[in-house]
Amino acid sequence: MSMIDCPYCGTSIHHGYTVCTGCHAVIEYGPPKWIGVPLMLVGALIGLAAGSWMAFFGIFLGGLFAASYLFRNSVRASR
Ligand SMILES: [Zn+2]
Repeated sequence: MSMIDCPYCGTSIHHGYTVCTGCHAVIEYGPPKWIGVPLMLVGALIGLAAGSWMAFFGIFLGGLFAASYLFRNSVRASR
């Protein structure tokens, strides 16, 4: 199992842990939760311009899929 370093205290924790064992920062993995907002806006704009709900869903879902791929190794911490 791979290890990650907490950005706050530098403690090495197992990848998959949701709380730092050193400073109790909350660890998040994958795409940030706000990523759906710009995807929805861009999808709505293009969907409206194209007059197609399929364009909206295509961009939105495709964007979410791309984001989860791009951010698959992303780790963030907050406390
Ligand atoms: Zn920590």
